[in-house]
Amino acid sequence: MMYPMLYLKSGKEQSLQRFHPWIFSGAVKRVDGDSNDGDVVKVVSAKGEFLALGHYQPGSITVRVISFEQCEIDRDFWRQKLIRALALRKNVGLYPNPKTNIFRFIHGEGDNLPGLIVDVYGTTAVMQAHSTGMAKIKGLLAELIVEVFGGTISSVYYKSTGTLSRNSTDTTPDGYLLGGASNTELLEHGNAFNVSWEEGQKTGFFIDQRENRNLLSQYCKNANVLNTFCYTGGFSVYAARGGAKSVVSVDSSQKAVELTSQNMLSNFGENSSHRAICADVFDFFRDNPDELYDVIILDPPAFAKHRGALRNALQAYKRLNTIAMHRLKPGGLLFTFSCSQVVNRENFRNSVFSASVIANKNVKILHQLSQPADHPINIYHPEGEYLKGLVLYVE
Ligand code: SAH
Repeated sequence: MMYPMLYLKSGKEQSLQRFHPWIFSGAVKRVDGDSNDGDVVKVVSAKGEFLALGHYQPGSITVRVISFEQCEIDRDFWRQKLIRALALRKNVGLYPNPKTNIFRFIHGEGDNLPGLIVDVYGTTAVMQAHSTGMAKIKGLLAELIVEVFGGTISSVYYKSTGTLSRNSTDTTPDGYLLGGASNTELLEHGNAFNVSWEEGQKTGFFIDQRENRNLLSQYCKNANVLNTFCYTGGFSVYAARGGAKSVVSVDSSQKAVELTSQNMLSNFGENSSHRAICADVFDFFRDNPDELYDVIILDPPAFAKHRGALRNALQAYKRLNTIAMHRLKPGGLLFTFSCSQVVNRENFRNSVFSASVIANKNVKILHQLSQPADHPINIYHPEGEYLKGLVLYVE
């Protein structure tokens, strides 16, 4: 197959030689041949040397690399990629696993598949395209997902209206590509969760917090726990599982509060020691000044979605962490997170440092947390490291 040739400007091949999978528009000299949004292009240096094959998409990231070798981009090429991603999940014990059937199968660049996210919920795979190139081959990918799982997956739900760029030429509505709704029981470390990929945020559940939630449960025996930004109540369920005396869950979305109550109910039945409150977290803290907790979880949405928002985001993390430190009993634990990609580990730690100073507390870091094995970070794509967490002991 002859792919259109995309020439880089002289000297712009270096990041590709270090296997970084993105080409920004500023590095592109010209494209020869007819190339449309989502097509595969052959990327060459200014001198015409082969560098990579990738999905072309007019915009800031013009090419997302799918291969650093010359090869045919055919059915078998994609099949092999999926097999490799599944091998990783098998090798780390995530599949098959009788206690966990919720996991990320494809993590974009982390699985050498830029532009593609696939999450598995029991017998359903939920696919999110972040590039037109991946959106265009969704039918093939859906077929291959079912094939490589050898019968475990029977439905593929496509959900990309919120992830594709506004200029993308693919405008396929969200819906099932294969199969349909199922009601398999969904488990994470043996805890049951009700997940709605059709209506929920992202693919329906924050899978990336699985191991951090599991760590939390070890520290909740007889504790009074506050889970802020609770969404589906993942941390609340693990806190109760770990023997918490009481759990308070707070989210500004009524739907999230309902999901949390439902998930607590399906795991523990009628449980008077859980309260789910629909409120802005900052308002909740202001309106309940006397409530102190043994453990507080702060897992806010990304405060900075782009570089320009970094300063304000760091201020917000500082403010939130300061407030939470004041609401811990002496010797309490703070599980604090940032999922903003533009906030790096050092930035985040600095804002928590400032919070400790302002709160005037003696604070110790017990754990430094990240994303789990099914959200791998491609070493050549450090931008893929987005989830940062600290477990603090606040005296
Ligand atoms: N901790 C969750 C994921 C959090 S997602 C988990 O483990 O699954 C972020 C959540 O914060 C969303 O549910 C959103 O509704 C909520 N949220 C955003 N801003 C908020 C605010 N100011 N106050 C309370 N909740 C907020």
